[in-house]
Amino acid sequence: MKDIINIGIVAHIDAGKTTITEQLLYFSGSTRSAGSVDKGTAQTDFMDIERNRGISVRTASTAIQWKDVSINLIDTPGHIDFAPNAERALQVLDCAVLVVSAVEGVEARTELLWRILEQLKIPVILYVNKVDRLGADLEGVKDQIKNYLTSSIAIIQPVSQEGTEQFEVFDAFTKEEGKLALIESIAEFDEEVLEEYFVGNTKISREILLKKLKKGCEQRTVFPLLCGSAIKGIGIEGLLDAIVALCPRAKEIEGEPSGIIFNIDHDKLMGRVAHIRLYRGSLKNRDSVLNHTAQCEEKITQIRKFYGQKYEDIGHLESGDIGALCGFNHSRVGDIIGSPNHLPKNSIVTEPLLQVRVNPENDSEYSKLVESMHELVAEDPLLNLVWVKEERQLLIHITGLIQLEVLGEILRKRFGLNVHFGDPVVIYKETPAKDEIGFVSYTMPKPCWAVLKFEIKPAPKGSGVIYSSEVPNNKIYYRYQNQVEKTIKSALQQGLYGWEVTDLYIKLVDGEHHIEHTHPLDFIVATPMGIMDGLKNTGTVLLEPMLQFRITVPEETCGKLMSEIIHMRGQFESPIIKGDRAIFEGEYPVATSMEFPIRLSALTSGRGNLSVSFGGYQPCPIELGATTPYRGVNPLDRSKYILSIRSALQG
Ligand code: GDP
Repeated sequence: MKDIINIGIVAHIDAGKTTITEQLLYFSGSTRSAGSVDKGTAQTDFMDIERNRGISVRTASTAIQWKDVSINLIDTPGHIDFAPNAERALQVLDCAVLVVSAVEGVEARTELLWRILEQLKIPVILYVNKVDRLGADLEGVKDQIKNYLTSSIAIIQPVSQEGTEQFEVFDAFTKEEGKLALIESIAEFDEEVLEEYFVGNTKISREILLKKLKKGCEQRTVFPLLCGSAIKGIGIEGLLDAIVALCPRAKEIEGEPSGIIFNIDHDKLMGRVAHIRLYRGSLKNRDSVLNHTAQCEEKITQIRKFYGQKYEDIGHLESGDIGALCGFNHSRVGDIIGSPNHLPKNSIVTEPLLQVRVNPENDSEYSKLVESMHELVAEDPLLNLVWVKEERQLLIHITGLIQLEVLGEILRKRFGLNVHFGDPVVIYKETPAKDEIGFVSYTMPKPCWAVLKFEIKPAPKGSGVIYSSEVPNNKIYYRYQNQVEKTIKSALQQGLYGWEVTDLYIKLVDGEHHIEHTHPLDFIVATPMGIMDGLKNTGTVLLEPMLQFRITVPEETCGKLMSEIIHMRGQFESPIIKGDRAIFEGEYPVATSMEFPIRLSALTSGRGNLSVSFGGYQPCPIELGATTPYRGVNPLDRSKYILSIRSALQG
């Protein structure tokens, strides 16, 4: 098998990811000249909005070759609005290059990415970019990395005279000064090298040094750090050498195919194109494979490998590799292809916290809009589309306003639809307030028979929905019980205040079917009534999304900042003073802090620094939160609900 490395370039927006990707393509010989973000010619920026705004919004993958190693580069979007997309892509990586700007340093998003990479146990190479720029401060950035990310860095590509045009990079792979830096940084975590270093022996071979570093990097006990200037193409060869020398190779595992779709693109001719990381087995053109998540067969019509914007039909894909599969018309992002065994655990950290209404400009285009949105949901399931036909209400979940801008452009360009969006509102959740019983006896109007009794209890924060049943088959056939379990998710989409209900135990404790009168869909009709009856009895507590923050401000603005935080219903630890700056850590609600970044900037004359990350959901008094009207017919409105769901199920 050939050596394959699946690597992601990740960073805060503007740190230089796209420019680095362009240079990697150029240096490895994949393109004849490096594209430029500023001129709008970047190979991996496909959409107009990316070119016009100079930001990457989607995950593009492209393959390069360096020293007989195939490297799949995944350029993940840096903007926070696309964090869920970026995180999905991170899960298929074997290692990552985390880019930090030598001028702006470690930013909020950098820290968040670091934490996600940590959770996923992905080895990381740090690349400090823009050392050519005025204001570059390597020592400062190193301190920030040590304070906020990790103290175990190994500097393998130092520079001199950063922040000037004359800076020089000491490549550890070719230059003696680079090797010395390598010895010094490895001596910090390796006794053997430390002893050699003390006796002044610098003859220890590069191979041995790199072997030690590779082991540390793979085990995440040490993080190699390189410096360079992507725009000038300096330090890029060193980065390629470091990737090849230090990053773990993708494993080859034989057997039944098993893979994950981490991205879906749209091709004008071929339709959906599913980017897959294959962990096991192999695939080839014309194979039929099981989409385990959707439980349907998909037929591969083409397997593409992308080189910048060009692609090739490679015909087959081996385990460990990344490829783009055509013909997958029923697949969504996140779906498992083939066997679900042997896959890493799937977990998205960031979730959309805002809900927004989408309306077509032309009222007659609702059905076309719904159809198009369904297509987009395949590419981004977190959009969580809700369509209430009777009320002509189309709702989606989003992470931020840039995402809306991109959606608007996709709808216009790809589907010829002009839309406008309502004002985004915060997504609240609900949880039961106490233990209670939910009961439904659906035996009228005949013919029907489904009786259910649930025990509903609050569960610890973050545990989601935990379902179990203690009812035997002779009381309710297991096939009906499966229907109950499957219906619970949709039954919990709207609680007493109209928000999704979460963090609860639901146990089916009693009930009955009737051998003659139970109709196949009766338990699907009955479940939401039983669940809603339970929630009416427990009552629910409103939960609101929180943001954890770190705010750094000039000391003299502390007083004003504290009253701002309190005003937002926020909480904080006592501030840490560093020089003339004060650092506040704490959390505040999303709902009260939407305008805060602008106010902070005014408050500190632009000298405040804010870093936020999702801090989970917390109880919120109902009078301070918001309710949303029940969409569709509420199961508590029994006869109207039965009528409407029966006609929907039959229609
Ligand atoms: P991304 O948002 O992380 O993909 O960053 P881009 O690659 O789009 O770069 C953001 C801006 O920084 C662009 O204007 C680039 O030209 C510029 N840039 C990227 N790398 C460097 C560098 O090494 N030095 C300098 N001076 N500017 C750079």
